[in-house]
Amino acid sequence: MTDTFKALILNERDGQVTSSIEQIGRDRLPEGDVLVRVAYSGLNYKDGLALAGQNKVVRFYPMVPGIDFSGTVEESSSEQFKPGDQVVLTGWGVGERHWGGYAQYARVKSDWLVPLHADIDLKQAMAIGTAGVTAMLAIITLEEHGMRPDGHEALVTGASGGVGSLAVAMLARLGYQVVAETGKPEMSDYLKSLGAHEILDRAALAPSGGPLGSARWGGVVDTVGGEMLAGALRTLAYGASVASCGNAGGFTVNTTVLPFILRGNNVLGIDSLPVPQARRIAIWDRIATDLPRSAIERTMEVIPLEQARSKADQILAARTTGHIVVDVNA
Ligand code: NDP
Repeated sequence: MTDTFKALILNERDGQVTSSIEQIGRDRLPEGDVLVRVAYSGLNYKDGLALAGQNKVVRFYPMVPGIDFSGTVEESSSEQFKPGDQVVLTGWGVGERHWGGYAQYARVKSDWLVPLHADIDLKQAMAIGTAGVTAMLAIITLEEHGMRPDGHEALVTGASGGVGSLAVAMLARLGYQVVAETGKPEMSDYLKSLGAHEILDRAALAPSGGPLGSARWGGVVDTVGGEMLAGALRTLAYGASVASCGNAGGFTVNTTVLPFILRGNNVLGIDSLPVPQARRIAIWDRIATDLPRSAIERTMEVIPLEQARSKADQILAARTTGHIVVDVNA
């Protein structure tokens, strides 16, 4: 390892968060038993919030953001990993409470890492990243609560985003009739290329009329919250569930108890941050099988570290499509 390496650093002064790309020494890295040479990180919605200094995502400054990364182990005092191993990290508050992936090196706890799946390379791993892990965790959780491909249609909200795009592709591969809700009608061809069989306009899902609508969905991956979650809840089929993953459209949900007491519906909370290592490995195994490689290529946009800050504004304004990969060495 060279003495210094490139890192994107966030600082705060008088309530203003600034970002700069600096050469820093390895002695500034936080504690951890594994040093990873980072190849790629992702730019998720939460990274957008962190870079823009919003929603108190970052717990202290200076912070290297980047909630996920893939790379190669350079040093390890853990028996689980040795130099040369390729690894992936998603979650655990990295990029929020512990320096993250927007740097050429990261030092982390071995328990947070998983070995890279043999059929996935370092770039593909971040094209999947937190978004793909969250989408698959949502699908597995819905399956555990009875969702089956031969039942009613599956709905994905915020379908053109990172979690949404990957959920559409994986549900379609699993044999579901996937309805993709989006505020971007111009993304119809893209969503159909991922396997969506119908595109639903945002306004059509927003609640209107009574507390219950036609029972349509056999399962919902909701990345938006707010009105989209409320709209999905009033149109779930009997016994079906919503996996609530995100809040890109708002925290507050106006609903009634009727979906729960008249249709036996469930809201399943999805938190991909603290998922134990064994379940994470199982999630990556499922992704390796159930996510078509063509979908990875279609959903991925690669940017250099220097563009991360400007891309953050775009993701917060819902002006990005698919999942963004940050090449920290470009
Ligand atoms: P993206 O920004 O890539 O996708 C979010 C999508 O939501 C947008 O592309 C847009 O889709 C839709 N959207 C955005 N704003 C609105 C709005 N005001 N009203 C309705 N729809 C809107 O984000 P990610 O895919 O990275 O993350 C999605 C959500 O999931 C975020 O809230 C994120 O914080 C959360 N998340 C949660 C995780 C967990 O463990 N629970 C892990 C990862 C992410 P379209 O244009 O197609 O309508």
